Amino acid sequence: MKIGVLALQGAVAEHVRLLEEVGATAVPVKKVEELDDLDGLVIPGGESTTISKLMHKYGFMEAVQEFGKANKPIFGTCAGAILLAKQIQGQDDCHLGLMDIKVERNAFGRQKESFEVLMPVAGVAADYPAVFIRAPYIMEVGENGQVLAKHEDKIVVARSGHYLAAAFHPELTEDTRLHKYFLDMVKEYRS
Ligand code: GLN
Repeated sequence: MKIGVLALQGAVAEHVRLLEEVGATAVPVKKVEELDDLDGLVIPGGESTTISKLMHKYGFMEAVQEFGKANKPIFGTCAGAILLAKQIQGQDDCHLGLMDIKVERNAFGRQKESFEVLMPVAGVAADYPAVFIRAPYIMEVGENGQVLAKHEDKIVVARSGHYLAAAFHPELTEDTRLHKYFLDMVKEYRS
């Protein structure tokens, strides 16, 4: 399985390393052509508005929309989840608009701009170490979606078909279990 990590901003090398560790071939993606032979894509955290601007600039917006519409799995983490969402609280427009979720940006407040907590993630782990950095949360998940984890009653991991969204940064610890879960999704959709 070949999985790309969108390399416009964010912790790209960390995602690549964890994907390799679970057995995928992982590559940073800097040009749209590089999407062609991928089986799955990770959109890392960073600043969603900045990544969105860069995606428009380098032609990734349409290309990633096509990628998703071709049933290829996409995993959005933190800002990546915001980019995937069909709805963003307080905004009329969205970015990729691929995944049927509604998100609110910077949802965990000032005191808690950054924190780490162990949490159960359904189908993934009972004690997953989640690192939140100015994280969004998922307000709503569409009809066909599943909630995989909550923190303080707020949805922080959700899946809808071949889309996976996490409000936190799964690439910033040594824990590979969420990357393994995504690799399994990629395998499922490839076969
Ligand atoms: N607050 C950022 C945004 O709104 C996301 C933060 C992150 O990816 N760590 O895009």
